[in-house]
Amino acid sequence: MKPSITKLRNYFKLEAKNGYQNNAVIGGLGQMLEHWSAEARNDGLPENLVQVVDARLRDYHRLSETSRKETLFGLWNRIQREFGEDHPQPSEDEEASPIPDEKPAPQAQEEPTPPEVDTPPQTAESAPRPRVQLPPGQRADLHASVTTVKHIGERYAETLENLGIRTLGDMLYHFPNRYDDYSRMLPIAKLRYGEKVSLIGTVKSITSRSTRGGRVKIVEAVISDNSGAIRATWFNQPWIATQLQRGDHVVLSGKTDQYLGRLTMNSPDWSPIEKKHLMAEGVVPIYPLTAKITQRWLRNKMHAVVTDWADKVEDYLPAQLLDDAELLDLPVALEHIHFPESWEMLGQARHRLAFDEIFLLQLGVLQQKQIWAARLGRVFEIDQAWLAAQIDVLPFRLTGAQQRTLDEIVHDLATGHPMNRLVQGDVGSGKTVVAAMAIAMVVQAGAQAALMAPTSILAEQHYHNLLQLLSKEAGPLSPEQIHLMIGATPESEKAEIRAGLASGAIKVVIGTHALIEDPVEFADLQLAIIDEQHRFGVHQRASLREKGENPHLLVMTATPIPRSLALTVYGDLDVSVIDEMPPGRQPVETHVLSPKERERSYSLIRRQVEKGHQAFIIYPLVEESDKSEEKAAVEEHARLQKDVFGQFKLGLLHGRMTPGEKDTVMEKFRDGEYHILVSTSVVEVGVDIPNATVMLIEGAHRFGLAQLHQFRGRVGRGAAKAYCLLIPGSADAVENERLLAMAETNDGFVLAEKDLEQRGPGDFLGTRQSGFSALRLASLTDIQLIQKARKHAAALFERDAELTAPEHETLAVALNRFWHIESTDIS
Ligand code: ADP
Ligand code: MG
Repeated sequence: MKPSITKLRNYFKLEAKNGYQNNAVIGGLGQMLEHWSAEARNDGLPENLVQVVDARLRDYHRLSETSRKETLFGLWNRIQREFGEDHPQPSEDEEASPIPDEKPAPQAQEEPTPPEVDTPPQTAESAPRPRVQLPPGQRADLHASVTTVKHIGERYAETLENLGIRTLGDMLYHFPNRYDDYSRMLPIAKLRYGEKVSLIGTVKSITSRSTRGGRVKIVEAVISDNSGAIRATWFNQPWIATQLQRGDHVVLSGKTDQYLGRLTMNSPDWSPIEKKHLMAEGVVPIYPLTAKITQRWLRNKMHAVVTDWADKVEDYLPAQLLDDAELLDLPVALEHIHFPESWEMLGQARHRLAFDEIFLLQLGVLQQKQIWAARLGRVFEIDQAWLAAQIDVLPFRLTGAQQRTLDEIVHDLATGHPMNRLVQGDVGSGKTVVAAMAIAMVVQAGAQAALMAPTSILAEQHYHNLLQLLSKEAGPLSPEQIHLMIGATPESEKAEIRAGLASGAIKVVIGTHALIEDPVEFADLQLAIIDEQHRFGVHQRASLREKGENPHLLVMTATPIPRSLALTVYGDLDVSVIDEMPPGRQPVETHVLSPKERERSYSLIRRQVEKGHQAFIIYPLVEESDKSEEKAAVEEHARLQKDVFGQFKLGLLHGRMTPGEKDTVMEKFRDGEYHILVSTSVVEVGVDIPNATVMLIEGAHRFGLAQLHQFRGRVGRGAAKAYCLLIPGSADAVENERLLAMAETNDGFVLAEKDLEQRGPGDFLGTRQSGFSALRLASLTDIQLIQKARKHAAALFERDAELTAPEHETLAVALNRFWHIESTDIS
């Protein structure tokens, strides 16, 4: 069985087992679609099947349990049909899953024939498309405002801005987020009484009337296709009579009923549809919308724009490349991504446009790397004996991986070009000390260094560590030369720091984004370090670097990046991997408990605290906009303090506290004044409390694996055995494969790959990770596409790195635009 099908089957089984609660996938089944579709295409699943799965599951969360069951059922049947008998029934070995055990839904058994109504002209399926030949001087001005389009005035233009659409070009690149497949609809004559159906037809008549008392308004329409007719009735929705007219094409969905022996539908869902939008195979684009515009309106305007402008778009990829990579011409791709002539063409269109995204990303990364490499950087020749002495006084011996990374940094600092290095190492692998040594090397030579961390708690922790490491006896600095600058730093102190950095009296500054927001100037910044780099946007990283003149750059991340991703995303960075844990670390013992077993976790905490250890209890962010995160933590803190852990002191930490308040709590916890810290997810990154041995996470199902792993990394940093307890929201979720994976492995890399598989790169890398907003079609898990695009980008770069050849002129412009929108730098 193809992996994507197996995966789908597993989701469906889990869903069935959980009673169709839409919790087989975190965030709901719809969440896995993007990733799954990419994988399915990769697997060679037919495009129409991928689309059908997408279309059906997209709105899964809105369905009732019964409809969900029917949906999964229907889909599974469809897959069975397409993939024949050689695929075993998914649940032979498991009676818990009703998916294939029950009788398939009746309508799924019938091989639906396409409706005869409105049949648009058939086109030869995969005939090669001719290359578009444009007369010169007839290029589209894609920068023209959308008001160029007929019937789009200022008012609509403003509305469209909500979708990020300002120009014709924006419009062409506003891709449908899905396509409805009307080819699978039943002809009216084949409908039977009592079925849930969708059908497509023409309005033959439409009337409205009131019941005798005048209390109920009734709209009645007769809808027909070539095979027959059906009567649809709506109650108390008089406006339908004004919105639907005779001759309109319409899609109805609902349950069929009968009245006096004739088929009827009562209050079906309906949506109008333009005949011309219905392409050969009945594929209709569905666009992301915004308030005040309708699908129909936007589809109409899109149709106009695509018809008038798509073929005037200039293809910026050289003809040779199009041939070599077997890609559609850009105008053709743009046309078919909106109004595909067939599923096959849609697939090709998506492929071309996704290729472009990776290709431009990659080309930009290569150029960036070259530009970076061409710059001159200060040479730091490190005295090995001095460095050995520094390492010698550390409270521990460096691991082999730490030492290797340090060697790489020593090498980078001496090349005469700015270092551009990413240090990747799992939580607790000891990245900080590597950063500290890099700082020591630079300040020893009299220059300045800055370290930026995502939270003030973490910045402060680094500050204390660096103070320790750099200003102790053998260290190169005195305490006055190291400062902390966070949002909460008093203005007077900030002024002093500013003066010290400008004069060069202060050598090292550690801080949050306050560092870049503040007008600090450095006398001689030679090393910029960014910790937990995935927490920062591209521009923030660039801003820190711009505080110096081509300073050396070191970025650190605990996000283990699968190779496929690293090469694309961090193509312009050199990567060091710290793949070894400091000795003596025991894996954190991880358990998934059901909510009923909560008491057990409390007794474990009690026992640990009695032994002198500390514990974290984490409550999830329920929803971005939802304030209940704090509420949950605040209420639970009170409850736990009063009813459960009366004999202990409990601290409380949440996102709405001021940085100062948070720091105070964190300090008290670190200093052992609190036994237990109740916190929201703000505690996630970097904080080091070696004495803490228990991490209890409530609502664990709401977190991604990478994030859970980060939480877990907060404990087990000392010599004592540590525990991580995961309590999902419902007992069913205890079986949740994702959570069980946490219990199975302590390897962040394995978890990251799983996360990537399940949630896709956006979530995985953090939404702020830039370079990805440009990837609208390309999936970073589509390894084949990435490799293909990378290969062609590298070949082109080899031939004409600066794109100065005349045939690359338009490509240079396109590249510039792509990177201008994104950023000038994605590292
Ligand atoms: P991370 O890579 O997650 O940033 P840290 O740098 O915070 O990890 O290190 C985690 C803990 O491990 C710290 O308490 C640090 O002092 C300790 N540590 C780092 N390197 C070593 C080592 N080589 N041997 C023992 N302990 C180490
Ligand atoms: Mg760290």
